[in-house]
Amino acid sequence: MADAAERLDQWLRDAHAMENQAEQMLSAQAARIEHYPELKARIERHVTETREQAAMLERCMERRGTTTSTLKDLAGRVAAMAQGIGGMFAGDEVVKGAMAGYTFEHLEIATYTALAAAAEQAGDPATAEVCRTICKQEEEMADWLRENLDPVTRQYLAREETPGLTAKR
Ligand code: MG
Ligand code: FE
Repeated sequence: MADAAERLDQWLRDAHAMENQAEQMLSAQAARIEHYPELKARIERHVTETREQAAMLERCMERRGTTTSTLKDLAGRVAAMAQGIGGMFAGDEVVKGAMAGYTFEHLEIATYTALAAAAEQAGDPATAEVCRTICKQEEEMADWLRENLDPVTRQYLAREETPGLTAKR
């Protein structure tokens, strides 16, 4: 049997591993984009936010006297790398990447919604507040991607039909 505090500690470690994976994925994605400057800039901004989120989670864990899971962090990095390599071969990688990003932000939104509830239940309102702050950043990123999937897709298709232009990234 686990109590809310143990569950919270475990989920904080999971979230921390998720953010390390996100940082890896987003950095690789942004670095490859050449012809979609707004998308590139927004992803780069979210890389910075993602690093801050990992640091915020570390401070929560420190305050609670628990540690990050290095093994899980490592596994997340390997998964992110595999995903990045897979995407590189797709001719439509910019569109697939934006779609995957939108999906990933929703995984994060779900994660922090559950985490905030667990933190409340475990009597740790400070951690709950951090989770809600992070969740807002994920929602903003998801909203941006939602709004920009349409123009990015149109730009991609227009570039693809124009001789001499590169569309894929
Ligand atoms: Mg995040
Ligand atoms: Fe995010």
